[in-house]
Amino acid sequence: MLEKREQRNFQGVDIKKLHAKSMEFWRNQLFNIIPLTEYAYRGEHFTPRLGLQRKIFVSMAGNGNNVLIDLTFSAEITETGAVAGAIGAVLLFPVAVAVGAVSYFEYENDANNLMRAFWEYMTLVADSPDKNIVAPVLPTPEQQVAMTENRQQMEQSQSALYCSQCGAKLDRESKFCKYCGSKV
Ligand SMILES: [Zn+2]
Repeated sequence: MLEKREQRNFQGVDIKKLHAKSMEFWRNQLFNIIPLTEYAYRGEHFTPRLGLQRKIFVSMAGNGNNVLIDLTFSAEITETGAVAGAIGAVLLFPVAVAVGAVSYFEYENDANNLMRAFWEYMTLVADSPDKNIVAPVLPTPEQQVAMTENRQQMEQSQSALYCSQCGAKLDRESKFCKYCGSKV
């Protein structure tokens, strides 16, 4: 399981608004939000195709006009039925490996992207208390897999040409093989 925890402090902002907008952010990423206390909640998003379970835990504490936000993000493959590390999960999940969708680093990229977008959004909200800034929508893991597949199909369709006479790799635009001179 991949787990990351970060804390940030925001000044001159209403905790109620920051709390509401923070939930809006995670709802836009299709996380199911479960309130725990007035300013704490957890959220879950499951990607069936990958067996990828992503969880967040967010809590806020106000101190005058300061709001401290504590964010924990975790991701794991659940279909293995075991608490496998991300690298082990890749080995146990050949479909995902086949499309190049899941690797330890992609988990980490996904986590980093989400957390960075979350902090950026919280900063925007805190900096413009009078505006109603809509939370961004980031690509889901399903969409990221689809994009990876599209890219692989495109690369295959653009795969190299080879000379029928000598087998040398040809430039797409060349009319003659530069090794044996055969007409392409
Ligand atoms: Zn040739």
